[in-house]
Amino acid sequence: SSHARIGPVAISRQTRSEAIAMLLDCMAARTKINVAFANAHGLLLAMDDPEFAETLTRCHVLNDGIGARIGARVLTGEGFAENLNGTDFVPALLNAAPAGTRVYLLGARPDVVARAADAFALSHPHVTICGWRDGYFQDGDRADIVAAINAAKADILLVALGNPKQELLMNALRAELDPPVVLGVGALFDFTAG
Ligand code: UDP
Repeated sequence: SSHARIGPVAISRQTRSEAIAMLLDCMAARTKINVAFANAHGLLLAMDDPEFAETLTRCHVLNDGIGARIGARVLTGEGFAENLNGTDFVPALLNAAPAGTRVYLLGARPDVVARAADAFALSHPHVTICGWRDGYFQDGDRADIVAAINAAKADILLVALGNPKQELLMNALRAELDPPVVLGVGALFDFTAG
């Protein structure tokens, strides 16, 4: 599929439904993929931070917001078909996911992630929220976190630690994590918790 390049970041030109179909295919085939949403803040960060830029080259990057659209428009002459911000995209992905799809939430404050888990369970009763864990942990806790996510048999892992923390963690743990579809979702749990 085609991409728009903004500095070091190649952003997919998929529509929302194309991106969702691709991720559900990955889930069914157990093909591992990390998804990042590129907004203006993340794109500027990638230009200044080679490690984050390199990390994004190993993610499937979707466009989030007006900054990405203007950047693509200026640099390639063409914007994006749709704005794929995580706040709308994740509920749409869960809506399209087959019944029994197992979803794990990692990130945000303990009370926030617990409330977000409850909210997703209510709004998407056909999926199973198979676990959650807050985003304030030490590097030494990583092995336990991976073990818990794998034991929960998650199909989709949502990681909400902000940029660039979430993408760096997703990449560092990609080989060990069993869930095929991992998305970096920024402040989604705060929005979802209400
Ligand atoms: N967060 C976290 N652990 C951290 C830092 C942030 O879980 O070490 C969470 C934070 O609670 C919030 C989300 O990451 O739910 C997004 O944080 P922030 O607003 O700082 O990131 P941004 O929206 O700027 O990407």
